[in-house]
Amino acid sequence: MSGCQKKSANTTTAVIHPRSVKGRFRNMKTMIMVLAYAAFFIFPWIPFARNVGPDQAVSFDLVTRKFYIFHVVIHAQDIFWLAALLFLAAVVLFFATALAGRVFCGYFCFQTLWTDAFRWIEQKIQGDRVARIRLDRDKWNANKIFRKGSTHALWLLLAFWTGLSFVLYWGYAPELIQRFFTLDLPSAAYITTFVLMATTYLAAGIMRENVCMHICPYARFQSVMIDHNSKIVSYDPKRGEGTAGRALPKKGLKTQEERSAKGVGDCVDCGFCVQVCPTGIDIRDGLQLQCIQCGLCIDACDNIMDKRGWDRGLVRYASENELDGKKTKFFTLRTLGYGLATLGAIGFLLGSISMKKPIEGTARQIRSPLYIMLSDGQIQNRYEVKVQNKTQKLAVFDVTIDGLNNATVDMGQIKNFTLKPDESQKLLIKVLHERLTGEYKDIPFRFVLTPTKGEVTEPVYLPSQFISP
Ligand code: SF4
Ligand code: SF4
Repeated sequence: MSGCQKKSANTTTAVIHPRSVKGRFRNMKTMIMVLAYAAFFIFPWIPFARNVGPDQAVSFDLVTRKFYIFHVVIHAQDIFWLAALLFLAAVVLFFATALAGRVFCGYFCFQTLWTDAFRWIEQKIQGDRVARIRLDRDKWNANKIFRKGSTHALWLLLAFWTGLSFVLYWGYAPELIQRFFTLDLPSAAYITTFVLMATTYLAAGIMRENVCMHICPYARFQSVMIDHNSKIVSYDPKRGEGTAGRALPKKGLKTQEERSAKGVGDCVDCGFCVQVCPTGIDIRDGLQLQCIQCGLCIDACDNIMDKRGWDRGLVRYASENELDGKKTKFFTLRTLGYGLATLGAIGFLLGSISMKKPIEGTARQIRSPLYIMLSDGQIQNRYEVKVQNKTQKLAVFDVTIDGLNNATVDMGQIKNFTLKPDESQKLLIKVLHERLTGEYKDIPFRFVLTPTKGEVTEPVYLPSQFISP
């Protein structure tokens, strides 16, 4: 963290105008952005036929408290999946940080993704870095009003569409959008849309890198998660500075041979790595709090090295050990711990989703009265049985008893019961048995719900107990 407090020339300007750059990390960032945008904006519009629930691939239904994600239906009782998912997200973040620093910020964070898109719009309308700086300095005229105005108009449109798309997840999108524009939705939908629109516009359009540098708490504690083995974006000072420092490629310092003869390093002090940096820092000052590990300065420097015909990698993902000429250890106690926690969380989540019971239920004995003695001497217990069909198919069940010999089940007029797809039912079931004595007065047993029709094949067991005077 040697250069943590240093400021580059870029950070002294009020607005940072990064220069565009081509390269593998820029391509990777663009690819992730396109995928993330496609997922976020398109998911609510993908049709998905269901027997019950919205015909929409991804939908969060507040009324029935169910989340639909393609074939997976998450009920309110499955909320522990959300806890497991949050735990997984946290350990993946720690794991990635231990391996490659603040890399989540540079490629996957919403703030980065939306700021990148806003900057792309700005660049298309106002031009690249130099043109934007010049436009900022210009007096207000028709050209500046048009360019600045249309940039902000498009930003507001994207911010609005972001807010609206979020709302479309909470219902049937084609119907919601029609009702939105005919002012037929509850006020919560409009408040959510406009709050998200305002925060997106402010965070991605106005505050941009300031969110990463001054607001995001992750920047503050990332340093405790990385060590000398973490591969972070680094400038190789030995190669770049040599023994006599960096220097422009002026006469006598054009080739590597000439430079090394004078002790000058490979950094030609072009400043390209600083100009492309979205947070405006100089990677040559060492690891800094503001660095989001986006790798754009690597692309910039690689382009310069390519032009000079020198090896790439003056700026690269490298560990402190690597820069000191030592070996990088990937398998440390820290990375192994995070890796195992990640695998554990993935295993738990996948296991619990794949082992999700299609039918769930409970059987509660009604305790007032505890039992009824019938005229023929038999004892009757009553039970409230709740069952939920979590599948999208109809299921029919016979009810029998396991663990209470010679008991009979009385369901009144019905012999079996039917559960429609995604339906919950409450049944009153009576169980009759001869009087029990001694230590057999309270006998645990199980209701056995045996499927007789439909696609559910496994019987369902609901434990309870029979009480006798
Ligand atoms: S220093 Fe490099 S990796 Fe860090 S934010 Fe700037 S461009 Fe991205
Ligand atoms: S882009 Fe490379 S050569 Fe140019 S100033 Fe940065 S580190 Fe030096």
